[in-house]
Amino acid sequence: MSEHDGNENRQETHKGRLIVLTGPTAVGKGTVEADLLSKHPEVWVSVSATTRDPRPGEVDGKNYWFMSEDEFVAKEKQNWFLETAVVHGMAHYGTPLQPVLDHLAENIPTILEIDLQGARRVKQRAAELNLEIVSVFIAPPSYDELVKRLVGRGTENEEQRKKRLETAKVELAAEPEFDVKIVNDTVDRAADELWGVIAKEYGIK
Ligand code: 5GP
Repeated sequence: MSEHDGNENRQETHKGRLIVLTGPTAVGKGTVEADLLSKHPEVWVSVSATTRDPRPGEVDGKNYWFMSEDEFVAKEKQNWFLETAVVHGMAHYGTPLQPVLDHLAENIPTILEIDLQGARRVKQRAAELNLEIVSVFIAPPSYDELVKRLVGRGTENEEQRKKRLETAKVELAAEPEFDVKIVNDTVDRAADELWGVIAKEYGIK
């Protein structure tokens, strides 16, 4: 990532509006995004940094930039991130700033898939960075369905699952803060609705 190190040469003007995607944990944001990307590869999804361990099959630089806590904190001090958050009380996550500015400057549809705290921080920083944002909330069809999806994923232990459910409850309550709500009833339909939002924002026919 060396080309994105430091604060130099930041673009000050942007065309498209940044799509900030949030939703409760295990609602299927990643699956909706993958479906969207398979249909519309021109969309760019920001690659976050995290201090959590990679899951089986996850690739550094593709799923996340995996880094140590020391490295993460050092980059935080250099203002390398657009936003950072500690998610589920367990690991740091953050959006590298410069790649987001670069893609927006080229009018490439740009998505952040981040947690609620992160979405709020991006909103707070929008004016300072001359960013326009559309915030999108991916909602489950119901709370029971969300619990089913969370348990079904099976990648977390009992304690992690409990923390994620607590976080999910708080996240569900935040829905009214968002510009757009998309219910993830079926992945295909939700991805198409998300594309509708993006196409409108970026003037794509
Ligand atoms: P996971 O560890 O399951 O990949 O992600 C856990 C949570 O972290 C998800 O809710 C995801 O949206 C959030 N997340 C991923 N990247 C970022 C980021 O860069 N910033 C923030 N604030 N949250 C993130």
